[in-house]
Amino acid sequence: PVVTRFAPSPTGYLHIGGARTALFNWLYARGRGGKFLLRIEDTDRERSTPEATAAILKGMEWLGLDHDGDVVSQAAGAERHAEVAHQLLAEGKAYKCFSTQEEIQAFREAARAEGKSTLFRSPWRDADPATHPDAPYAIRIKAPQDGETVIRDKVQGDVTIRNDQLDDMILLRSDGTPVYMLAVVVDDHDMGVTHVIRGDDHLNNAARQMLIYQAMGWDVPVWAHIPLIHGPDGKKLSKRHGALGVDEYQKMGYPAAGMRNYLARLGWSHGDDEFFTDAQAQAWFDLDGIGKSPARFDFKKLENLCGQHIAASDDAALLHELQAFLAATDQPALSDARSDLMGKAMYCLKERAKTFPELLEKAQFVLADRPIRPDEKAAAQLDDVSRGILKELTPHLQNASWTRDALEAVANEFAESKNTKFGKLAGPLRAALAGRSATPSVFDMMLVLGREETLARLTDAAG
Ligand code: GLU
Repeated sequence: PVVTRFAPSPTGYLHIGGARTALFNWLYARGRGGKFLLRIEDTDRERSTPEATAAILKGMEWLGLDHDGDVVSQAAGAERHAEVAHQLLAEGKAYKCFSTQEEIQAFREAARAEGKSTLFRSPWRDADPATHPDAPYAIRIKAPQDGETVIRDKVQGDVTIRNDQLDDMILLRSDGTPVYMLAVVVDDHDMGVTHVIRGDDHLNNAARQMLIYQAMGWDVPVWAHIPLIHGPDGKKLSKRHGALGVDEYQKMGYPAAGMRNYLARLGWSHGDDEFFTDAQAQAWFDLDGIGKSPARFDFKKLENLCGQHIAASDDAALLHELQAFLAATDQPALSDARSDLMGKAMYCLKERAKTFPELLEKAQFVLADRPIRPDEKAAAQLDDVSRGILKELTPHLQNASWTRDALEAVANEFAESKNTKFGKLAGPLRAALAGRSATPSVFDMMLVLGREETLARLTDAAG
């Protein structure tokens, strides 16, 4: 069975790159009936904060990336990590190193001055235990010194590292704390992780982690190191280009499904498919489809997909997500009455809205109270002539039955009697009903508002 994990360090918000890593792992597990685990890599006590952990959890929740089991704290496993270091020591695959920081520092400086490799070779590697001082020691792995280590990466292919370039990395510091690299390997092994999908900034770590797997005789997981996300200009992603926390995307009003779709396409592809559902993404997602070159972040594409997802969404689900958007942006919640009306209107609001703010703009006719105050553009539609026409039209609507067909028939008949086209009446009607010029169709608004409210607004506008 497939087990993947997302292993963020809680040092800040959940940024867009981390969210994509989480999504890839989630898709891979969910598409294969596997498990998707979450581990918070909080071993760096100075930089890790509970606020960052909370922000990561919140971001994942918004994105709908549910994980299996409890959230694992890496720091809580320190004893177990140390135990593995001691096991390797007992088995002769690691050794006690008594070299002090100062000695190592001095060695490096001397090597640098002489233009030699600064790779530290501990004199304690092969020292006779009888010569060991009674002093604090670090536990170092006994890394192979010749041959090569090959990482079989699903994205990068085989990556070969000469072993004479790897040092005997410290596993346990002299104060007894395990190093990060050991913690990752032990946790991935103990959690039964079968596939590690993460940023290619961790590719170098993989070589060192490999040594620990080999020393412990553990199966190495499938590794897939994915290229980082770049800006539209091909450079490192900057804030302006979208290097933001996912909470910022929620606040900008992108729907989570659109975000998932876009992030899935960011560095992964399935033929020419751009728009897809979660079920499709889960069924299709595969490591083979991950590109080797950095994906470029593109707001236009994101918006386009978000628009398609809003249009394809179930009305009730959309209303629910809209409420969450209002809460996330500190806007007042919709009253029950408004919410009912929004629910009724959703079918015509969701066409062509790419974000929730756009959807709310189209929903002004539902959200505004009488008397409707037209914005500048709409006000220009309500000159004396138009107001006169609205006044004349009103009694015709009064007696119409309130169905789309009937309303259209009345409107067209009226327009004909005025020797004009209905299109000419639409502007003033939009202004009267919504106070805006970008609205759903006039008939949709009439149907949603109902006879009484429609007539009242027309009467208000006719003056
Ligand atoms: N904690 C690491 C990070 O946030 C990820 C480590 C891993 O995935 O192995 O970059």
